Amino acid sequence: MNDKDFQEQLAKVEKFHGHVCGGIVMGTKMTMYALEHLEMKLNEKNKDLLVFVEIDRCASDAIQVVSGCTIGKRTLKLMDYGRFAATFYKISTDEGIRVTDDDIQNQDEKETKEDLIKRLSNTPNEKLFSIRKVKLRLKKSDFPGKDFSKIVCPVCNEIVKDDKYIVRNGVGICKACAEESYYEYVDQ
Ligand SMILES: [Zn+2]
Ligand SMILES: [Zn+2]
Repeated sequence: MNDKDFQEQLAKVEKFHGHVCGGIVMGTKMTMYALEHLEMKLNEKNKDLLVFVEIDRCASDAIQVVSGCTIGKRTLKLMDYGRFAATFYKISTDEGIRVTDDDIQNQDEKETKEDLIKRLSNTPNEKLFSIRKVKLRLKKSDFPGKDFSKIVCPVCNEIVKDDKYIVRNGVGICKACAEESYYEYVDQ
């Protein structure tokens, strides 16, 4: 990974995210490292790539910008595990790599933000991350493309797309009705 490429990606991420912080440096480097492993290029649309991020923090914005994958394109998936990790999957070759943060245990609360950014920027990727090959458990409906399926939830009457429903007694029900939803109505 050369420094010019890193600075270029970091600038793109800063523009999107609004600042540079430790998470942004980590997410930028992690994604560049993963693309290199999968022999994919920077600054391309990367339609051949799916990314599964396991945390909803700063690093995820960097992963989105550097990979070019987004939720709207169905190429970026949030697996809300709260772990600093992401899996990069190359569709055409069926290769999956899960990248984890090896530095998190080294981080000292006394380290200033500036020192952290500097240290992470200057540490080789091999020391910051571990990469392990993974086989993904994917369904056809996880891939980009046209609507895969569409049902109407019999409880709320709302449409559920792309097989995202849960089957109860042979009937497809939306996740909000089948499980505890994140909201409740206040007007009834
Ligand atoms: Zn941040
Ligand atoms: Zn429902």
